[in-house]
Amino acid sequence: MALMCKDVIERDEKVVIIQQCIHCGGETEWPITYEQWNDWQVKHKFIQEVFPEMSVDDRETMMNGTHPSCFNEIFKDMD
Ligand SMILES: [Zn+2]
Repeated sequence: MALMCKDVIERDEKVVIIQQCIHCGGETEWPITYEQWNDWQVKHKFIQEVFPEMSVDDRETMMNGTHPSCFNEIFKDMD
């Protein structure tokens, strides 16, 4: 199973995805339902289909753990 997340805790019908920001090291927890996790990670549905109400920034942070502001910092440092 291709799991890109750092850690996943299964609690009853809930799944908590824990992602760490590569820039500041801060961890973000994303509690989602098992159904959503299954659709996203097992059935490989598009993330925008699984979490239609989530903002683009939030989806990005959930996928790679990096905060949008930190992401900008990384690119700024590359200049
Ligand atoms: Zn960060």
